[in-house]
Amino acid sequence: MNTYDKGLMWFRRDLRAEDNAALHHALKVCRQVWCVFVFDTDILDALPRADRRVEFIRESLVELDASLRNLGRDNGVDGVGLIVMHGPSVKAVPALARQLAVQAVFANHDDEPAAKARDAHVFGDLAHAGILLHSHKDHVIFERREVLTQMGNAFGVFTPYKNAWLKALTPFHLKAYPVAQHARTLAPVPAAWAKPVPSLADIGFEPTNLSQLPLPTGTSGAHRLFEDFVERIDRYDDTRNFPAVKGPSYLSVHLRFGTISIRHLASVAYQMHLQGLVGASTWLSELIWRDFYHQVMANFPHVVEKAFKPEYDHIKFEHGKHAKELFAAWCEGRTGYPLVDAAMHQINQTGYMHNRLRMVVASFLVKDLGIHWQWGERYFAEKLIDFDLAANNGGWQWASSSGCDAQPYFRIFNPVSQSEKFDPQAKFIRRYLPELAGLPDAAIHAPWLAREMELISAGVELGKTYPRPVVDHAVAREQTLLRYAVVKKPGKTPSSAPASATAAAD
Ligand code: FAD
Repeated sequence: MNTYDKGLMWFRRDLRAEDNAALHHALKVCRQVWCVFVFDTDILDALPRADRRVEFIRESLVELDASLRNLGRDNGVDGVGLIVMHGPSVKAVPALARQLAVQAVFANHDDEPAAKARDAHVFGDLAHAGILLHSHKDHVIFERREVLTQMGNAFGVFTPYKNAWLKALTPFHLKAYPVAQHARTLAPVPAAWAKPVPSLADIGFEPTNLSQLPLPTGTSGAHRLFEDFVERIDRYDDTRNFPAVKGPSYLSVHLRFGTISIRHLASVAYQMHLQGLVGASTWLSELIWRDFYHQVMANFPHVVEKAFKPEYDHIKFEHGKHAKELFAAWCEGRTGYPLVDAAMHQINQTGYMHNRLRMVVASFLVKDLGIHWQWGERYFAEKLIDFDLAANNGGWQWASSSGCDAQPYFRIFNPVSQSEKFDPQAKFIRRYLPELAGLPDAAIHAPWLAREMELISAGVELGKTYPRPVVDHAVAREQTLLRYAVVKKPGKTPSSAPASATAAAD
């Protein structure tokens, strides 16, 4: 790579000053480096005024700013920090690059279609001014076309992808970028931009309940969560499916915004996997799923708009007034199925939803309510603090059976048996649906089947204090099998479809 007198590091989904590929390269090849983050109005304008993600980013930027300042100070440079701008980044970044008279801008890859369009625009604008845009892989271990089938094609099935991923892995892929080694090239922020990170009000947003949630922000928060998780990673395999148990890592929002390095996480998990720790192997697989869906989005970009498998675009989902009412009931946690409703309260109240529940509520929306998976995908995109286009799209296409390596269309989760199996003592349900708390464990998963006396003594009045089920699962299941008949390939449909569907779904 060339060397430059002046460079600009542009942070986007990589909000950390350690083990950051683009920051490392910028510091290494430039004599002076400034750092910028843009609160991009092209993204922010579409968001509700209270958005946990914006607050999470803002809090994490405060820490990033301090980390850069400390890195500078440790290397004898005072006045280092993060320049934070507010406006469309397609304009802000080229304008700042020109004003600072840099020769190159450094950023990490972002393969979401809108981000690619933004970067192409910025690249062109910078090129006009004779400034280069260098972009680096940082967000995943393997990206784009790095892991391919023997025929040179992108993978559409997870297990062979995972095997190829593990085979391709070398110590290089897990090695941290030693940012601090080159930090002496960090440059003091010019007076015109030396301002504190703007408040939420400065950028037109309101506070959310983020500070009341057990979700620490910034790189320090991510490390705290990871240290806590490593203590229990050996139990991950047994605990990860139970929403009332502290089983998973809760790191998804940190992975989304890059407050912790994927190389660090994968490296720790991989070492433990080599030592034979089953929980670590399972968790490593989840990180590989993340890479998998990112390469799906990069190699099959049509998934963002359409089904991965084109025949699934022919399915006729419900629409119109009744469908909208059912969708509203799902969004607001009023379906009458306690596990589904509790899960929807979790996402609405916290911005997080447990993985098992994401699968349950997605299946319920598509296969019990007959509503298009894209409606649910959009709702998750709005609510999830860890919303990630690739993982969310992959999850929804998996649940609706339209995606790569998705569950077969005839596999339909039974929301009651999922509840009995994964929340047996209804601890999760009681946390989010206190109105049902008094029902005995055996009755709480399907209140409409409870005995009259059980309902009365728990103070539950169906249709008043808690809704009756909006659909009958058994009926909905039959309708879904009919609805999905358009995707049957002659001779390929398993003759035991319905029976195995029930078995698999339980
Ligand atoms: P852990 O169990 O600790 O897993 C560690 C990390 O692995 C996660 O943080 C995540 O980065 C990754 N991961 C785990 N499972 C998956 C998966 N199935 N696909 C891709 N990556 C995975 N994940 C998101 O990060 N953003 C989303 O927008 C998102 N939407 C989803 C929508 C649906 C319908 C479904 C079924 C799943 C979705 N997931 C999404 C995947 C998964 O549910 C979350 O990553 C996980 O629940 C986050 O919790 P955690 O960090 O405690 O996970």
